[in-house]
Amino acid sequence: MDNYHFLNSTRKDPLKASAEERINNFNEIYSNFNTETSVDQASRCIDCGVPYCKWSCPVVNHIPEWLKLIAKGEIIKAAELSNETNSLPEICGRVCPQDRLCEGACTLNSGYGAVSIGNIEKYISDTAFAQGWQPKKSSIWHKDKLVSIIGAGPAGLAAADFLTRSGIPVKVYDKYPEIGGLLTYGIPNFKLEKDIVLRRRKILENQGVEFILNTEIGNTIDFKEIEANSSAVFLGLGTYKALTGSLNIKQGTAVYMALEYLIDRINSIFHFGSAAHNEDKNAEIEIWQQSSIPSLKNKDVVILGGGDTAMDCCRTAIREGAKSVKCLYRRDFQNTPGSRREIENAIEEGVEFIWNTQVLDIYENNQGLSLKTVETELKKEFNSKRLMPVLKIGSEKILNADAVIIAYGFNPNPPQWLKENFIETDDSGRVLVSKKAENRLQTNNPKVFAGGDMVRGSDLVVTAIFEGRTAAESIKRYIM
Ligand SMILES: Cc1cc2nc3c(=O)[nH]c(=O)nc-3n(C[C@H](O)[C@H](O)[C@H](O)COP(=O)(O)OP(=O)(O)OC[C@H]3O[C@@H](n4cnc5c(N)ncnc54)[C@H](O)[C@@H]3O)c2cc1C
Ligand code: SF4
Repeated sequence: MDNYHFLNSTRKDPLKASAEERINNFNEIYSNFNTETSVDQASRCIDCGVPYCKWSCPVVNHIPEWLKLIAKGEIIKAAELSNETNSLPEICGRVCPQDRLCEGACTLNSGYGAVSIGNIEKYISDTAFAQGWQPKKSSIWHKDKLVSIIGAGPAGLAAADFLTRSGIPVKVYDKYPEIGGLLTYGIPNFKLEKDIVLRRRKILENQGVEFILNTEIGNTIDFKEIEANSSAVFLGLGTYKALTGSLNIKQGTAVYMALEYLIDRINSIFHFGSAAHNEDKNAEIEIWQQSSIPSLKNKDVVILGGGDTAMDCCRTAIREGAKSVKCLYRRDFQNTPGSRREIENAIEEGVEFIWNTQVLDIYENNQGLSLKTVETELKKEFNSKRLMPVLKIGSEKILNADAVIIAYGFNPNPPQWLKENFIETDDSGRVLVSKKAENRLQTNNPKVFAGGDMVRGSDLVVTAIFEGRTAAESIKRYIM
């Protein structure tokens, strides 16, 4: 292996559809690396001995090791290794903010261009699956055990994956008609095509995972019944209480919450769970009439917030044909919580950013909506790691819009039955879990484990996977 290959070959990113082309459909915007590019890019890894990339990955993927295998053309071995630590590598390769995680920590990032880890991760799984590879099934099956998993988001899927790999039967319940949680009903198709999640569903089912969908625990089935019939239970319910930033929102106005908007659009394109399930990803966006949120075509739309959810709303509204999309955020570009890559994509697609601006009020007028805004400046506060926005009195302005979408993030929404079943939460509603190595993620009710956003607060796909995997290890120790 040539350790100096990175001097001869620069970092390459996959081709990206032009902004003009991609705003006309919901397809993923990045193409895939071919074998030649993957081998070339993987060969740039200098195997530096201190793999910061690996340690910066929440699931501690064996990155240098699978890069080495790809450099040698060993695709199946690389897929097996990638699958060892991560239940959804083909999804992480697409949606992880690599610039803040593995690639941000890559030694070559200081001047030479980080190794394209995310795209190689995606190439490994996609190619191995296309060649017919499937993760190995467990040769033993503990028929006397059953783990019930509530929530088919990445946390629940990872728990299900790692438990069935050890031969432990699982049933995964979800209130939605399709698996994936926010992978399906949140993250738009242009970042993660839904076929990728559906392919993973088939793989998990083949591995022995049983999905019970359209079933809300606490409503369709009582939690006590699930608990009584299981050796252990894993909760991965996510966090869904949308924040409004103290804005007084009048019912019936064209002000929508981010997830309400995104789920409405995803459903109106794909009709998951209905007879009209639409598998044609090029289907034109005619379907808006069927959704409950009116079309934003030819409308002036304002999105509030600076995170990835806000970017997803902006870019969905652009694809829907909005006349203008403005994104208002109370900090500046350097201090957004969103991924740089996603903000740049949004700018290319025509989103206008208004930084350092906070909305004080939204009210209806004869023409539509008016937003009372005020400028902010960022100040360091004694007890905060982040720069805090301070309002500039006298800088108030009025901005008119036809529709407003609020993407201020989410708080936990613990169901009532948690308390009734001795599962404690902190004051903000996050489930309290053990941090001890021997029983990590066990709740106050010893039979119940929890992970993902409902424990951490809104976070990332890869951290939810990590917690699903960790809980599976604790559950195995508990039931075996
Ligand atoms: C719009 C948006 C875009 C995002 N983009 C990214 C991104 O690009 N990259 C990234 O890493 N992260 C992203 N995230 C964050 C990421 O999606 C979440 O951190 C992750 O999905 C959390 O996984 P989870 O399994 O904890 O919960 P979820 O994915 O929320 O899944 C929870 C599941 O539990 C089910 N459920 C809840 N209550 C019940 C019940 N009582 N009975 C049955 N089922 C129930 C829900 O239906 C849901 O399917 C994004 C989030 C949003 C909102
Ligand atoms: S899972 Fe995410 S952080 Fe880890 S190697 Fe893959 S892309 Fe990087």
